[in-house]
Amino acid sequence: MAEYLKTASRTAEEDHADVSVVVRGLLDEIKKGGEAAAQELAKRFDKWDGPIIASRADIDVASARLPEQVKKDIQFAHTNVRKFAAAQRETIVDTQVEIMPGLVAGQKQIPVNAAGCYVPGGRYAHIASAIMTVTTAKAAGVGHVIACSPPTPGKGIPDAILYAMDLCGADTILNMGGVQAVATMATGLFGLPKADILVGPGNAYVAEAKRVLFGQVGIDMVAGPTDSLVLADSTADPEIVAVDLVGQAEHGPNSPVWLVTDDRALAEQVIARVPALIEALPQMNADSARAAWRDYAEVILCENREEIAVESDRIAPEHLTVMCTDLDWWLSRLSNYGSLFLGEETTVAFGDKAAGPNHVLPTSGAARYTGGLFVGKFMKTVTWQRSTREAAKSVAETTARISRMEGMEGHARSADIRLAKFFPDEIFE
Ligand code: NAD
Repeated sequence: MAEYLKTASRTAEEDHADVSVVVRGLLDEIKKGGEAAAQELAKRFDKWDGPIIASRADIDVASARLPEQVKKDIQFAHTNVRKFAAAQRETIVDTQVEIMPGLVAGQKQIPVNAAGCYVPGGRYAHIASAIMTVTTAKAAGVGHVIACSPPTPGKGIPDAILYAMDLCGADTILNMGGVQAVATMATGLFGLPKADILVGPGNAYVAEAKRVLFGQVGIDMVAGPTDSLVLADSTADPEIVAVDLVGQAEHGPNSPVWLVTDDRALAEQVIARVPALIEALPQMNADSARAAWRDYAEVILCENREEIAVESDRIAPEHLTVMCTDLDWWLSRLSNYGSLFLGEETTVAFGDKAAGPNHVLPTSGAARYTGGLFVGKFMKTVTWQRSTREAAKSVAETTARISRMEGMEGHARSADIRLAKFFPDEIFE
């Protein structure tokens, strides 16, 4: 049986209680006050009273200010993310089948007209989130991609994020974050097309606003705090395991991290090493990581690899790293995760920033039922059908009988009228 060498004292759900009340209040303000209210909230929360829509000149100035190496790095990440998204797009295909002679049905894949990409910007400047969301929307063929991020007071969106949004193909860029940005994209303020879907990570306010507006607009998922799990056996390097756990705890004070292992000595070495690694981070990062490690981290000791896999699938982490032998066994055995990182040659940070697969992933156990952001989230799988008159005959007869059994006389008559028109010489029961 699994033994907990360290337990979490809190769960992510406890923290969401009053966010919902705040968000509903803010959405109400925007519903009543429209653009003026959204602008007022940008001022209140982000001290921004500059233009809401970034101009071509703003983007060009930001690009000119950026060091060449930063641009090259963003281009590198963009190329990888685009390649992966393009490969995914190839797998999403139209198809058709002749269900019975003369009755053909099919499905088509149609990108949405407009998508809103939320790029978080409060605590860190999430350049990678701009790349992940905008590039994927464009690879899906979305007509109008809106990207937004919280502006920094007096400056607007940080240069690197602005450059990344533009490079990846954003059609409109909004100097706005939080609930006000979500509502602006969902309802089409400031002359924007109404977004058909909103995607991208964000803090609890952003996630709650998306959740409340779901239905009025599509969403990729309801994202909670980032979480990460490392699976390690006796072959794992405890220093790398500890560094990776601390690196992921840096996301925020409520970002859960787990270590699941069958090696007690390794677990103890990691637990012993983590505090010093946290304190060696810059102060803001250390504050997040310290709280996350104290309140949300767990270290679970299992008896064997099968028990490790069971624990891992139970937790269903957003990010799952395997530092064990026989990586192929783990790839085929594990089933609940947002993205899998096999071996110490890769790591969650690579996936977060530059490797290619998307980093917008299901959190808080949602990996039990969904994967992360991919081109398919920006597309609708719709169906169609057509029929010969001959094929319509048996379908109409069956439809009429089922409809009458259901008490749906109007439906039955839609079948009857066709039978009467197509087969005037026949009598149908
Ligand atoms: P953010 O952009 O999500 O939030 C900043 C905005 O929050 C501000 O613009 C402001 O309008 C609003 N806000 C702040 N305080 C508020 C309050 N009291 N009431 C109402 N609105 C308020 O940036 P953040 O806060 O740094 O959060 C980023 C989140 O995104 C983190 O939770 C991080 O873990 C997550 N993230 C996840 C992934 C992923 O792939 N899962 C990637 C990157 C970031």
